[in-house]
Amino acid sequence: MDKLIITIAPTGNVPTREMTPHVPVTPEEIARDIHDCYNAGAAVAHIHARDEEYRPTPRVEVFASILQQIDGYGIPVIRQLSTGGRHGKTLEERSQNLTLNPEMASLTTGSTNFPNMAYVNAPDLIEHLAQIMKERSIKPEIEVFDTAMINNAYLLAQRGLFREPLQFNFVMGIKGALPATPKNLMHLVESIPAGCPWTVTVIGPQHVPLSTMALAMGGHVRVGIEDNIYYAKGELATNVRLVERIAAIAKAVGREIATPVEARAILGLKPAG
Ligand code: ZN
Repeated sequence: MDKLIITIAPTGNVPTREMTPHVPVTPEEIARDIHDCYNAGAAVAHIHARDEEYRPTPRVEVFASILQQIDGYGIPVIRQLSTGGRHGKTLEERSQNLTLNPEMASLTTGSTNFPNMAYVNAPDLIEHLAQIMKERSIKPEIEVFDTAMINNAYLLAQRGLFREPLQFNFVMGIKGALPATPKNLMHLVESIPAGCPWTVTVIGPQHVPLSTMALAMGGHVRVGIEDNIYYAKGELATNVRLVERIAAIAKAVGREIATPVEARAILGLKPAG
């Protein structure tokens, strides 16, 4: 079984300071949390940006500033930039940060509903984003909100838009989207090609049991305030504590944790440097 890749998603688009004081929103705060989470076992950082008023922004300068701050710590964590749709609607907005040539970027291969909005990823937008990532040798993490998105990823792969191995992230537990159940996770895992690395991102109270199940099955785990502002019922999370808990569960069940170098090998990324 591969070593466990822990991804930290510290910020996202939704959590506000009003919801939790622990969400990092400035480039300095985001980089500091990523540094601390790296020390706790995270190999990948999934990054969103906020503007001066802490609202989601697609502005490339803000992403550049976050990357610069991370560079300042001199840590080899894998940078994965979000191309998610809450901070922008157009291809130009969604793809701006790819000009920074991160090692990875998220790519959602279909549309779904979020609790208060439709998350629209039209076929031409997905294809354009995939094309840009291919040209810039950016590894897409294929964000799967329902099984049909796996099928769509196949179709894009058949047309040569992805390099092997495809890497999937199963996002489960969003209200109105795919429920976070063991049965659904089994179905998703059985629906991807054998040998492809996969990650789970679970929103809501099932995130600990279902992440543990993924960990036992050889999958990888994403945690962070983007996905869960609560550590337990009524208890707000910090990013570091969420990483520490997954690292502790992995240790307890004997699953070793991947360093960024090992994670690059598992994900088929070029060695850094
Ligand atoms: Zn995200």
